[in-house]
Amino acid sequence: MYADIIVDITHEKLDKVFQYRIPPKLEGALQIGMEVVVPFGKGNKEIRGYVTGFSHKPGYDEKKMKPILCIAQGSVAIESRLVALAAWMKEYYGGTMIQALKTVIPIKKQEKARRKRRVRLLLSEDAGKEQLEIFLHKNQKARARLLAALLEQPEQDYELLTKKLNVTGAVIRALEEKKMISLNSENVFRNPIHHKSQGTESPEFTVEQQHAINSFREDYRKGLRKTYLVYGITGSGKTEVYMEMIAEVLEAGSQAIVLIPEIALTYQTVMRFYGRFGDRVSILNSRMSAGERYDQMERVKSGEVDVMIGPRSALFTPFPHLGLIVIDEEHESAYKSEQTPRYHARDTAIERAKREGASVVLGSATPSLESFYACKCGHFQLLELKQRAGEGELPKVYVEDMRKELRAGNRSILSDRLKNLIDSRLLRHEQVMLFLNRRGYAGFVSCRSCGYVVKCSHCDVSLAAHKGGRMICHYCGYEEPAVNICPCCGSLYIGGFRAGTQQIEELVKRQFPAARVLRMDMDTTRTKDGHEKILETFASEDADILIGTQMIVKGHDFPNVTLVGILAADMSLYSSDYRAAERTFQLLTQAAGRAGRGRSKGEVVIQTYSPDHYSVKLAAAQDYEGFYAAEMEYRKMMGYPPVEQLLAVLMTGPDENNLETAAKYLKEFAIRVDKKGILQMIGPASPYVAKVSDVYRRVLYLKGRDNRLLIEVKNRMEKYIEINKGFQTMRIQFDFNPMNVF
Ligand code: ADP
Ligand code: ZN
Ligand code: ZN
Repeated sequence: MYADIIVDITHEKLDKVFQYRIPPKLEGALQIGMEVVVPFGKGNKEIRGYVTGFSHKPGYDEKKMKPILCIAQGSVAIESRLVALAAWMKEYYGGTMIQALKTVIPIKKQEKARRKRRVRLLLSEDAGKEQLEIFLHKNQKARARLLAALLEQPEQDYELLTKKLNVTGAVIRALEEKKMISLNSENVFRNPIHHKSQGTESPEFTVEQQHAINSFREDYRKGLRKTYLVYGITGSGKTEVYMEMIAEVLEAGSQAIVLIPEIALTYQTVMRFYGRFGDRVSILNSRMSAGERYDQMERVKSGEVDVMIGPRSALFTPFPHLGLIVIDEEHESAYKSEQTPRYHARDTAIERAKREGASVVLGSATPSLESFYACKCGHFQLLELKQRAGEGELPKVYVEDMRKELRAGNRSILSDRLKNLIDSRLLRHEQVMLFLNRRGYAGFVSCRSCGYVVKCSHCDVSLAAHKGGRMICHYCGYEEPAVNICPCCGSLYIGGFRAGTQQIEELVKRQFPAARVLRMDMDTTRTKDGHEKILETFASEDADILIGTQMIVKGHDFPNVTLVGILAADMSLYSSDYRAAERTFQLLTQAAGRAGRGRSKGEVVIQTYSPDHYSVKLAAAQDYEGFYAAEMEYRKMMGYPPVEQLLAVLMTGPDENNLETAAKYLKEFAIRVDKKGILQMIGPASPYVAKVSDVYRRVLYLKGRDNRLLIEVKNRMEKYIEINKGFQTMRIQFDFNPMNVF
């Protein structure tokens, strides 16, 4: 037996595994993740490394292969566990061990001057002047220059300062050590420490909140570690419940990770956690550099931090005694990585928790079908919050049938009802949010007169319009010519919905000239804090109407918003994706939940061409369970997740013919592996975007109830791809239960 060893897992150039011989005395004793001592390099220096895998065959001349010396003493448990988790991810989601390790282990990057750092003078003016005399007296010129500059302006940018004065980092560090100056990395949340107000009291809990907290607490104290789903309507006080659970875990001397989708990771949200736990809390986000992230991990390892808040990747925070992982808005598709290994944070969190004896708490107002199904099957424990906790009642919802508006001669993007309600809000100085649903738009063709949508008769997902006048199914490859006349009602109003946020902004400004209008989308949030600034302007009521895409649905609590308009509610409904209805239901429910969070009751207008679709109707009725039941029927009938598992094999390459042939070979190989014919195989089909910058794309789907079998077939395919030269010019990735259409 041979072992793969990684010797430097935090190195920037982490790209190589070394094979070592396993000596007889260690046979059977090694496990993936274990830290071992190996001879390395020409001098056979003894260094430490991690076991990342085993193999039966030597990768090169066995005589030249060195043996593992021993298992490292007092090995750092946390890295070992993360390496083992990476191995699980590689196995489960596909890809290489290196890719998995890079996902899980923070990389140490040698970087200079990339971070924005600020130098601040800590001495009073008098003490500073006195010190300056001392430096001058001792002829410490650089120190004197630095201090003099800071006496003029006590807080300055590190880079500018050092360049301007020609002083080195060592000088800065020397003064920092003497506590004359401080050095702060500029944070996205502009120095949260200034705002920290530890000791914010928790509110008087509602009966439901208390019940959820008690259930968790009793289990936790008994040593029971489970996965819970907090299914609570928007505003039911889920965050307060999480914080109470976290407090329980911290009291027991353990640590907690809180995952929040990046889009909802606002200043407001983070401050609630700081308010409760003070500087025991830290944040991660994608705007931090690799170096900053690495520093955070160092702080974690040194025990400075007990609660880490961040998006998906914060899941790998190296806490030594992890007690709890909270995943807020657990239904969000952002929890699924779009890079190999294409892991889902929910499943990976459950796996990590299982390995480390932690609990998992998932929360959502619109749980994913996966999680609710797991509750029904008894895998997760359901904790329900049905009432709003603070102020505010559930809003009144109107569904406006845009087909009727069209027939009545209104061709505007706004229905008459929405126009009138906006007027009334402007008069009362209340705020309005207009939400344009653009998610998942993939060229579906619908009739604006009758709402008809062209679907694949085999897959029950909508056909997508491609260039060249064809409509294609992305699941099975079925195609037919595009239509110009609605096959259902004969109308010519058939085509795609084209309005963007900018057009809506112009229209709204024309229609309501007195209103102060803000727009939030990819264009207006490109700058670093664009997103925060727009939300802050709106929160401070310096604007009347906020127009935006899904970005505006999350994160902020705007008590003065009493009207939410949802435009093109069906936009996400007919994307060619089996999750379309679920996504639509989630978006509509979440958007509606924005209205009436304050004292006055809210109203919501859903504009749609499909008022009778169950996802629209049930979102309007705020009926999650009704939606769950209806959607599960569909998933059962079609064999889609969570009832069955779906493995997408994504293939890209520069030559279309080769790609097509390879895809067919790969499918045949899969059929041979699945001897008993248990799996269903669909495709290979052309995805919506069949070619990107001269790279062609194909996708093959494998479907079945047996998770283990799918993983086995995947592993065999990976080997087959590795040893067959025919695949060399192609890139092949696996996506397990994909979130998005490829
Ligand atoms: P969710 O995360 O479920 O949307 P939050 O935890 O953000 O809900 O709570 C919504 C609002 O209600 C917040 O302003 C919060 O401070 C308040 N709140 C939560 N629980 C209570 C309670 N028990 N009593 C009073 N206000 C509460
Ligand atoms: Zn029609
Ligand atoms: Zn089809």
